[in-house]
Amino acid sequence: MDRKYDLLHKIFGWSSFREGQEPLVDALLAGRDVFGVMPTGGGKSLCYQLPAMLLPGVTLVVSPLISLMKDQVMALTALGVPAAYINSSQTGEEARRVYTGLRAGEYKLLYIAPERLTLEGFTETVRGLRIPLVAVDEAHCISQWGQDFRPSYLKIPDFISRLPRRPSLAAFTATATPEVREDVERLLGLRSPVQVVTGFDRPNLRFDVLKPHKKYDALLPLLRARRDKSGIVYCSTRREVERVCEALRLDGFAATRYHAGLEDDERRRNQEDFIYDRSTVMVATNAFGMGIDKSNVGFVIHYNMPKSLEAYYQEAGRAGRDGSPADCILLFSPGDIMTARHLIETGSENPDLSPEEQAQVTMRDYKRLEVMSGYCATSGCYRAYILDYFGQAHTDSCSNCGNCSGDFVEVDMTREAQMVLSCVLRVHDKLGYYVGQSLITHTLRGSRDKRVLALGLDGLSTYGILRGADQGKTREYFDALLTGGYLRKDETHATLIPTESAREVLFRGKRVLRRQKRAAVKETPRSPSRGAARREIPEPFSPGERENGLLEALKLLRLNIAREEGVPLYVVFSNATLMEMVRLKPRTMADFLAVPGVGTVKAKRYGEIFMSEIGKFV
Ligand code: ADP
Repeated sequence: MDRKYDLLHKIFGWSSFREGQEPLVDALLAGRDVFGVMPTGGGKSLCYQLPAMLLPGVTLVVSPLISLMKDQVMALTALGVPAAYINSSQTGEEARRVYTGLRAGEYKLLYIAPERLTLEGFTETVRGLRIPLVAVDEAHCISQWGQDFRPSYLKIPDFISRLPRRPSLAAFTATATPEVREDVERLLGLRSPVQVVTGFDRPNLRFDVLKPHKKYDALLPLLRARRDKSGIVYCSTRREVERVCEALRLDGFAATRYHAGLEDDERRRNQEDFIYDRSTVMVATNAFGMGIDKSNVGFVIHYNMPKSLEAYYQEAGRAGRDGSPADCILLFSPGDIMTARHLIETGSENPDLSPEEQAQVTMRDYKRLEVMSGYCATSGCYRAYILDYFGQAHTDSCSNCGNCSGDFVEVDMTREAQMVLSCVLRVHDKLGYYVGQSLITHTLRGSRDKRVLALGLDGLSTYGILRGADQGKTREYFDALLTGGYLRKDETHATLIPTESAREVLFRGKRVLRRQKRAAVKETPRSPSRGAARREIPEPFSPGERENGLLEALKLLRLNIAREEGVPLYVVFSNATLMEMVRLKPRTMADFLAVPGVGTVKAKRYGEIFMSEIGKFV
């Protein structure tokens, strides 16, 4: 049998390649450069790990985060693949041991941070080694248009050019916008790479946006319903992380926190607590997560709207990497838009950019924010909205998002529509030209805004007729009028222009209906006695699982093994693999090897003990 299939089955335990993996593996084995654009959880690591095992010498993997390296190396070691990492978190002694192993040709994969590439000691050692392949993970970090620009990524080509023989280069990213893709290819110096861009859809993720009155009261029932899972709650500021994490602890959740303001030590500890399932809820800013390889994240809840759909999809995509159903829920409030604007305006300047480039970046950030707020406002399919943005074809309705499966009511908004549309016309009559949404909003809400007063719009009869409506509500009216075709936006000046349908509403009594989601969550106020109910360890299993004794028993067995070996649960077996064991109930070694996710090393190590547990239930 072809060696690659052999490794795929025996080492990784998979019966087939996933979409996009095989062409990339083949190209790397043939010595070509590759560029893989796949969503988070798409299976990028296998694309370079498998060739690394078949190529002579050691493959270098450039990866942006130290935490990721340790986990990947641990997972590879558990599969029986010789791998190591060198980074600043190691003691001198540990690093020396890795260098010795490297020179002795002990490893097939070496993980390093990009900063390492410029250190003389490292480049010296590496020049004496055979390096068939350099894989660059999170390759979008090389682009200043990307979300996570890392200037040290720009040093990669220089490092490559100083090697005695040019290795194959493999770049991987989940960020799909054409500009970033173009940057990666050009700046890394990929030579006619074999490109694979796989579908961005993640069918196991269920998307939803909720607009609760009080966010915390909505968060609690969402988390209570998911006590048996672990997940991430993203907040946009450090202060919010502190507040939400503390409140959740008082409400009895094993919550931990992560943001850039914490000491390194605490950050590392909290991250490990989450990865090792000692804490089941991670409350974090977006500083947490890039490269966190935890496959059993059951939900990602955004407490605030992120700055862009790219960031949202990347963060939300950390759920359900093992293919199990998972939830991505965004708790939206109009104030989120203000916070996001503030973050764009006060965001740190990038010293590597000229003032013009900086201005361009800010403009792009605003465009991205608009796309993101559009996601929160849409009453169409959430998945379709995301896939549209990434330029991928899709069906109209996915039946696995809050809007597709949601319960809608039609609300009559004829009166509000008349108010908005007549304000648009009256402003036009007064000024002789159309204006943008924000000026109309200010006028409708009776604002003392400088422009409104300077233009004399406070003298119009429609001034202040929507005084009581909050910004979110008025935004919904505009969205409904735009999607319903009553208003259109002039592309160049972003002004709002009424259409023929608008005149029908104003002068011929046409009714305007708007689709609105029925209240999707019951908000429950904080429990009054929560101080007393404080409990650090949550119940490990949901009632549903308790009924399923076998899955429960296997999870417990996995927990004991993971504790004994000091590794995260998923390094032993992922949830998806345990569920397959429950389904297939293997009794022989051959059956056990046929379970997806079981390779020879793990079968040898854990086969008997798992089968003996399964035996008790058959
Ligand atoms: P990415 O780096 O693209 O986010 P990973 O490489 O971490 O994704 O893979 C995500 C999950 O998919 C992992 O749990 C991995 O074990 C699993 N996986 C990878 N390749 C396959 C395959 N061919 N068949 C089944 N599962 C796979």
